[in-house]
Amino acid sequence: MRDLARSIDNDLDSSIDNDLDSSSGGDLVQRALSTIRKHLNMEVAYLSRIEGDRTVFQRVDAPGLEAVIQPGQSMPLDAVYCGHILEGRLPQLMPDTADFPSAREMPITQQVPIGSHISIPIRRPNGEPYGMFCCLSRKANGSLNDRDLDTMRMFADLAAEVVIAEEERDHVHNTARERIAALLARGSFYPVFQPIVELDTGRPVFFEALTRFDAEPMRTPDTWFKEAEAVGKGIALEAETMRSALECLETLPMNTRLSLNVSPAALHDPEIVELLANNRLERVMVEVTEHAIVEDYLTLKEALSKLRALGAYIAIDDAGAGYSSFQHIVNLQPEIIKLDMNLTRDIDSDPSRRSLASAMVFFAKETGARIVAEGVETEAEAATLKTLGIDLAQGYLFGRPLKR
Ligand code: C2E
Ligand code: CA
Ligand code: CA
Repeated sequence: MRDLARSIDNDLDSSIDNDLDSSSGGDLVQRALSTIRKHLNMEVAYLSRIEGDRTVFQRVDAPGLEAVIQPGQSMPLDAVYCGHILEGRLPQLMPDTADFPSAREMPITQQVPIGSHISIPIRRPNGEPYGMFCCLSRKANGSLNDRDLDTMRMFADLAAEVVIAEEERDHVHNTARERIAALLARGSFYPVFQPIVELDTGRPVFFEALTRFDAEPMRTPDTWFKEAEAVGKGIALEAETMRSALECLETLPMNTRLSLNVSPAALHDPEIVELLANNRLERVMVEVTEHAIVEDYLTLKEALSKLRALGAYIAIDDAGAGYSSFQHIVNLQPEIIKLDMNLTRDIDSDPSRRSLASAMVFFAKETGARIVAEGVETEAEAATLKTLGIDLAQGYLFGRPLKR
């Protein structure tokens, strides 16, 4: 602020004449600051956040003074008006700071100097102070009145909504990041294995590895994977869970394969491909699990060809669940197509599910793939699947996912 004082002397008049619009495009808070500052004919507008015993300038609009008052700078709370205004010792509206003894006595009033000051405290929904939405000028400004304060409050409310939502988002993101970091550091997960059987004989042919998490909060594995992805750790989590599953490969019965869920993003990662390639891939199947549209099929196909050349089978997971799974099937020529559980459910009593499944059987025959029906829970579903020409199935009817 000392620098600010000097710089205001040097630069202020010319910068005000220029009336630079320093708002960064599309930033609502920045525009609110700029608009209210110009409207009130003030020199500096800022939004600050209290962090411990300091106030940190989050957004600043002070044309010509960018070098001296910048977002990220902070000041001790004791040295500025902020704390006093929050505590009610100074008013929100001070057209002339000389009229307020406690403002007049603060060193900052002379240093900047601050002639006029108008500010609205921002509070979080629980009432806790967040910071200040503030305009100030070197000169006193006798025209500032309660209507200006009301206008200021409207802008402050708008800005507050934005910054508090941002803070909330950051908080959620940071909590998630810490949770995933702890999960990875502690290895609080383990694989379970669910058989995929021949419908005719009941013999297991594959075992799908599914991950279980012993960490709070309790939730399904796909939620953990999504959260890891959202904080940039999706591939790290896939690598670790895959490693744990691969460690059990040799415990699976002879003549069966381990089936691993792998996202297309993970298949683009050289470390994951290497991790897979270091195993006996003639005992592995890779289930391409993805609900989003894949843009780069070429790279995905390359990664899969490499794994296939080393003996892996490729499966498309959740076929029939969405548009992208059909794209996968057409583009990736899998050995196995896993029909989504939604298609299996009540297939014995639902003609439209039966006809879609039949179409898939026809398609599979044409392309040399085999179909696995997922989520089979009843004998009636199993019997219907068999009559449709499906010979492999997975579901609670044949075995739950279990530890090995
Ligand atoms: P998915 O790959 O489609 O896995 C099948 C899900 O269906 C599993 O849920 C399994 O426990 C469940 N299931 C199996 N048979 C039946 C049944 O007869 N009835 C019903 N109602 N459900 C059945 P789970 O283990 O909760 O996994 C959910 C999803 O989380 C998986 O869907 C997969 O997308 C993801 N996931 C789980 N483990 C892993 C993993 O290690 N890596 C990756 N990348 N994804 C995983
Ligand atoms: Ca799967
Ligand atoms: Ca599935």
